[in-house]
Amino acid sequence: MQPAKILIVDDTPENIDLLRKVLTPLQCKVLVATTGESALELLLVNQPDLILLDVMMPGIDGFETCKRIRKDPKTHDIPVIFVTGRQDDIKAGFDVGGNDYITKPINNDEVKARVNHHLERLKLLTNLQKLNDELEDKVRERTAALAVTNRQLREEINERRYMQDRLRYLAEHDFVTRLYNRNALDTFTTEVISKVQRLEQEASFLQVDIDQFRLINESCGCIAGDELLREVAEIIAGCIASQDFLARLGADKFAVLCPDKDRTLALALAKRIQQTLAQHTFLWEGRQFNLASSIAIVTVDSDILGFDQLLLMADEVLYLAKREGRNSIKSYDDSISKAVSHRNKTNWALRLVDALKHQHMQVYVQEINPLHNTAGNKVKYEALVRLVDPKADNVIYPDEFIPAAERFNLICDVDRYVILQVSKFLASCHDIQEHIESISINLSAISLRDPDLKDYIVKTVNEHGISARQIIFEITETENIVNIISTRNFMEQLKNLGFRFSLDDFGSGYASFNYLKELPFDIVKIDGIFVKDMDKLDTHASMVRSIVEIAKKLNKEIIAEFVETESTVNMLREMQVDWAQGYLYHRPELLTRDLIESKILSLKKAGHS
Ligand code: C2E
Ligand code: CA
Ligand code: CA
Repeated sequence: MQPAKILIVDDTPENIDLLRKVLTPLQCKVLVATTGESALELLLVNQPDLILLDVMMPGIDGFETCKRIRKDPKTHDIPVIFVTGRQDDIKAGFDVGGNDYITKPINNDEVKARVNHHLERLKLLTNLQKLNDELEDKVRERTAALAVTNRQLREEINERRYMQDRLRYLAEHDFVTRLYNRNALDTFTTEVISKVQRLEQEASFLQVDIDQFRLINESCGCIAGDELLREVAEIIAGCIASQDFLARLGADKFAVLCPDKDRTLALALAKRIQQTLAQHTFLWEGRQFNLASSIAIVTVDSDILGFDQLLLMADEVLYLAKREGRNSIKSYDDSISKAVSHRNKTNWALRLVDALKHQHMQVYVQEINPLHNTAGNKVKYEALVRLVDPKADNVIYPDEFIPAAERFNLICDVDRYVILQVSKFLASCHDIQEHIESISINLSAISLRDPDLKDYIVKTVNEHGISARQIIFEITETENIVNIISTRNFMEQLKNLGFRFSLDDFGSGYASFNYLKELPFDIVKIDGIFVKDMDKLDTHASMVRSIVEIAKKLNKEIIAEFVETESTVNMLREMQVDWAQGYLYHRPELLTRDLIESKILSLKKAGHS
């Protein structure tokens, strides 16, 4: 550290000597000026650490000198100690910016003490300044580093936020149509349900199924299927209001939850969606398809407790809507609750259990007729189950109770019942058995999950001594066939014994083309929905034609169901369809020996004539 510099300003040489003597042991460098003016000049080139300033001097006095020192920013901070003999000067010295004073006559100890004090203070100040500077440097460095870290952090946060948004988007959206998916609908529906419960309001749930999706998807390829879904999504989105929640439930199923639409408004919306879809033509590689839809409406009132229940109800309604034909709208209120209120589903379970126990079920049959005179005098039937209500003495059709039976896992018992009755019947017809080509039995996909079904079939047929060739099992392609491998095993084992299999309702349902390739079906049954009005609707006729083409390519026998007119028969013959079934030939009747015998008789007569 450099020695401190002290400037003595005094016009009296004795005073200068005296002060110099006092300062010598303090090891500082002493500068001297004898007038105020020369002191100011010296200050310009040589800055001292401390000034000892006499008051009374020729020229400008000590006070004026101090004023000017304080005015100049370069010297502003240099401490000034006045050296004076007059008491009045002390206050005046502080007024012009002096820091301290020494009284004359000079007392050595006082000078030393005051000077030391100021030098000490100066040293501390210098150190403090240094520390401050260092600190500021550090702060600057850290601030710069922090700015970088901050920027990086911000970038990371932004990236993470983007990924979270993206993840949330993916978790909530269907990637083909970009609509909300089932999960998102579940969340939204749960909110709406709780609001409905709280406020006793009504909301509406619409489920829209596109009838031709499977056919287009599998005959034109999945790129066409995806495009169709996007077009449908756009059409539905264009029909709904901003507060309605549109989602894709899977495959060809769309859903709209309308939080503030009552039944009337919901029905109007369903009609608008259906009409707009029907007016749309889907074009793919020069082929044209008209779109038809089935729409289910379920009112969300305080009886609805959860999303799954809502879906189940919508499925039930859709099932009925589809049976009715294309472009139908059904609401839970008019379709189901009249027949079965969802409030007494338990009654349905009990009723079915009761019917099974007391055998309040009957097997009806419907003829299946050859289109090309190859069957000789043999008869062929499909068995159709009915529930009889002994009290009301009426017949309940399977559309009403099969969905419930499937839901309550009672369908296996229903199917076993029919297997047993048909086996008993065939056993009782031993004498005319060469006239019976086959009886088809419907099996629900749910029954196929029953691991003991195969053994039951084999045992029942063996016990009654009938031929497996006489039994064909009809399986509807549904999303309920979950395990293709075990279904194939089941079919193959029974086929090895002589049983045959028919793929029911082929063409409009779930993944049918895949099933046809992957499961060993012998026969394909074209969905009656297409057959029913193929003589009036070109699109249906071409649908049937495509289905026939596929089935022929795979070497399957073909049955057309819901044949109601002669013109349909002619078209089917021309397409080389093998069998026809429908009201034109026969309305289902109770299976009795009389029925079969009279049919055989009429065939014989026709053969002779
Ligand atoms: P499915 O197997 O497609 O049976 C054909 C249905 O169409 C029968 O209705 C039949 O009466 C009806 N039908 C026949 N010809 C015509 C026609 O020309 N036009 C129209 N519009 N309809 C016609 P049903 O008996 O009410 O059976 C309905 C469905 O219930 C059946 O459809 C089948 O999926 C199911 N089902 C019937 N019996 C059984 C059974 O024993 N077990 C199982 N799992 N399901 C059954
Ligand atoms: Ca059937
Ligand atoms: Ca069918």
